[in-house]
Amino acid sequence: MISTATPATKAFVVGWPISHSRSPLVHNYWLKKLGINGSYQAVAIEPERIESFLNGLGKDNEFVGGNVTIPHKEATYLCCSHHTDQARRLKAVNTIWLQDGELHGDNSDGHGFVANMDDQAPNWDKADRIAVIFGAGGAARAILLALEGRGFKTIRIINRTPVRATRMVSELGVSAEIFPADKLQAAISGAGIFINTTSLGMTGQPPLEIDLSVLAPDAIVSDIVYSPLETRLLASARKSGFTPVDGLGMLLHQAVPGFERWFGQRPIVSKALRELVVQDLGAKKC
Ligand code: NAP
Repeated sequence: MISTATPATKAFVVGWPISHSRSPLVHNYWLKKLGINGSYQAVAIEPERIESFLNGLGKDNEFVGGNVTIPHKEATYLCCSHHTDQARRLKAVNTIWLQDGELHGDNSDGHGFVANMDDQAPNWDKADRIAVIFGAGGAARAILLALEGRGFKTIRIINRTPVRATRMVSELGVSAEIFPADKLQAAISGAGIFINTTSLGMTGQPPLEIDLSVLAPDAIVSDIVYSPLETRLLASARKSGFTPVDGLGMLLHQAVPGFERWFGQRPIVSKALRELVVQDLGAKKC
């Protein structure tokens, strides 16, 4: 007998490696919570196979779309026929979907960053605050555009490899001051927002230790590292009376636009979801 039931909508996260990803936990929580007939799974694909995996979407496999993580974000950008403005400027995608048989790509990291700041530090985006980004990798690029989008006038960037910061600013066409790697204290002097976008402070990496006393008195210190949830940087910010913002909310919020595209409902980043992921991070420390 042929089943007439509507098949489940299938989405994925693709990366190499991928076992550390919390995305299946997040999306499957939302699917269950919203009673949607769908599934979301992690798919491990080596760099040399990403193009054929993407070409097989909607054909060899039944996926309607998914998330893309390290190391495939740039290669997937090149495979998409259509891009959102964010993705086009960043030349990297983390969310893809099929529409009329063609692959579309978006980059939701900036959305995740902004939504998390809105949640954890309301009114953070006063344009007269000096914002400092530490790092110049993929996440820093998305955050730089997000700060520009929220109207920040003074943005400072500092990175271990300064040439990478220079390239980032010139490729994105954003106005920002670049500080040499050994001038961190000068870069953060008077700043109202400091954002760590490097992997320093992550479990297994050296901590990021900075003298925060030169920040503006009402400064916000944001760390996009989320394992551990409270990095040494954030603990120090909290003890000094600054507003700490952890990176978990960015991870959760960046997942929202993709879920809405594939499954048709906008999910909520709730306390219960946050708690679920915090527990999982505690159980598997990576
Ligand atoms: P990436 O493109 O590889 O960039 C890494 C950045 O960290 C670069 O600026 C790099 O500096 C710097 N860095 C690495 N090791 C360093 C060290 N020992 N000392 C000083 N700087 C160092 O990585 P990414 O994708 O931007 O991710 C960066 C971090 O953000 C990771 O920990 C990732 O897990 C986290 N992240 C979190 C979220 C979230 O949703 N919360 C989203 C994306 C990323 P150089 O240019 O000098 O190499």
